[in-house]
Amino acid sequence: MVELIDETARTKSIVLDAPEWAGHSPGQHLDVRLTAEDGYQAQRSYSIASAPADEHLVITVERLDDGEVSPYLTDELRVGDVFELRGPIGGYFVWRQSISRPLLMLAGGSGVVPFRSMLRDWATGPRSQTPRLLYSSRSLEHVIFRTELEAFSRDGVDVQITLTRESPTGWRGHRGRIDSPLLEGLAFPIADDPIAYICGPSGFVEAASQALLELGYPPARIRTERFGPSGS
Ligand SMILES: Cc1cc2nc3c(=O)[nH]c(=O)nc-3n(C[C@H](O)[C@H](O)[C@H](O)COP(=O)(O)OP(=O)(O)OC[C@H]3O[C@@H](n4cnc5c(N)ncnc54)[C@H](O)[C@@H]3O)c2cc1C
Repeated sequence: MVELIDETARTKSIVLDAPEWAGHSPGQHLDVRLTAEDGYQAQRSYSIASAPADEHLVITVERLDDGEVSPYLTDELRVGDVFELRGPIGGYFVWRQSISRPLLMLAGGSGVVPFRSMLRDWATGPRSQTPRLLYSSRSLEHVIFRTELEAFSRDGVDVQITLTRESPTGWRGHRGRIDSPLLEGLAFPIADDPIAYICGPSGFVEAASQALLELGYPPARIRTERFGPSGS
């Protein structure tokens, strides 16, 4: 591991040196396996935050205070530490530059991580799609990759943030959870033949998928990735 980057107060990007890594597609994830001195092992999945063409493989981890692995990765890990990786994993929640449909990305919390990989990849390609990211975050302080998202926004990506708990005075973005009324104004019309990717805690993914189905999105055009245990 070569670098740790503070993204928010509870989220860090972990920049990895993985010379044997065979490459990945945007949207895929990997498994991190930690082994304690007594042989005890713990394994968790993390979406890949870097684009295929980036110099280093990057994951971005949000600390869950009562968690087993994420507090270790965000608070204890030091540059130079070594741990096992397995991947890339996943063939369904994958985006490729050859998919020319309008790209709708719905992110809940750390569910924005695979979309950073997709957007970085989009930025280096022919840009034949119109990407739109709708990102639900508890507060502005919890927004991961905020500076980079602002840069994407200047570069032609439609980045829309909705804050579910606290919003600063003068906030001009959206407020509240992602639901049908919000999506009605923001989801690409079906006539444009879009494709939607949804990523975040299971409850978020359920609600956002349901809202898109209600708007008439065919199930085959909705790809989902769930981070937490069901009901989280
Ligand atoms: C395909 C995939 C990709 C993922 N990508 C990322 C990523 O990019 N960044 C990231 O931070 N996490 C990601 N996760 C979640 C990650 O794998 C771990 O679940 C998370 O880091 C918590 O692990 P822990 O050991 O700290 O918590 P645990 O000890 O496993 O759990 C602690 C408590 O938190 C609850 N919990 C576990 N996971 C979640 C969750 N995601 N949300 C809310 N509550 C939870 C548990 O029910 C338990 O009560 C991903 C999960 C999957 C399946």
